[in-house]
Amino acid sequence: MTTTLFIGLGNMGAPMAIRHAKAFPTTVFDLSAEAVAHVVAEGGATAVADPADAAADAGTVILMLPASRHVEAVLTGEDGLLGRLAPGALVIDMGSSEPSSTRALAEVAAERGIDYVDAPVSGGVAKAVTGELAIMAGGAAAAVERARPHLDVLGASIRHVGPAGSGDAAKALNNLVSASNIAVASEALAIARRFGIEPAVMTEVLNAATGRSQASEVKFPGHILPGTFASGFAYDLMLKDIGIAMSIADGLDTPVVDRVSERLRDGRAQLGDAPDHTEIARLYGLGDADPTAPKENRE
Ligand code: NAD
Repeated sequence: MTTTLFIGLGNMGAPMAIRHAKAFPTTVFDLSAEAVAHVVAEGGATAVADPADAAADAGTVILMLPASRHVEAVLTGEDGLLGRLAPGALVIDMGSSEPSSTRALAEVAAERGIDYVDAPVSGGVAKAVTGELAIMAGGAAAAVERARPHLDVLGASIRHVGPAGSGDAAKALNNLVSASNIAVASEALAIARRFGIEPAVMTEVLNAATGRSQASEVKFPGHILPGTFASGFAYDLMLKDIGIAMSIADGLDTPVVDRVSERLRDGRAQLGDAPDHTEIARLYGLGDADPTAPKENRE
């Protein structure tokens, strides 16, 4: 019961599981054997062949999966972990999931005496590596306190937002603002260039002035203007988050973000396979003149 089972070792899960395994006894699982081998080699974690078999020994389960449908499959699908974990176990879903799905899973967990916390993160791969993620937690206060030692090795800021699903709601809204910042700054840089101000110069102006954001400070200089577009956060995952944010708007009048989310959704069709979320800027000719060029020719 003292082992933590960490499932989902992708762009974010791998560095997080490596940090976790250095602090706590950790078993790991992913559909990708390569991802598992990497975390075992770098973090000293123990691979498990089947999470259902490993569940009985796990006091805590941490999930870092793409979306709610993956979380539901792992927890309540065939051989789902909520039917395998012992009462008293703790589940921490750190992916960006849907609040309504999280609430339903937390109820099933509660019926079985299992604590459930949604604890999605912000900060990207860079902050996952350094353990400086911003974590927004939803769930009962006692459950969030149980989760805190695990979250402490992964994040610099841990904020209990409210009951189950609140962390997910806050995360989706953060990404709505974050993606809007990229879109708005892209348009401002395109206008600047038309006026005769280089995008790099305009980015420096924003960063010294009140128009700055994490997009202008990190994404434009690091991923967009050099044309690498390799932030490690997929465009499609960002669209998922925008969809979650808009789904909880619940009829509120939100004309600005309605328009931004429409633009982000329409822009996807103009980009190639599996674009990075920063590639919205390519639609304005930033970092790369041809948004349809294959990615391997750009990096
Ligand atoms: P990813 O696609 O890189 O990784 C997901 C991993 O889950 C993959 O390794 C995949 O094999 C694994 N997986 C899928 N289904 C599985 C299953 N049934 N059992 C075991 N493993 C399974 O995604 P990511 O970028 O690491 O993002 C994970 C979550 O974190 C998403 O919800 C995303 O929105 C969120 N997030 C991502 C970032 C980022 O910068 N990449 C930042 C903050 C939050």
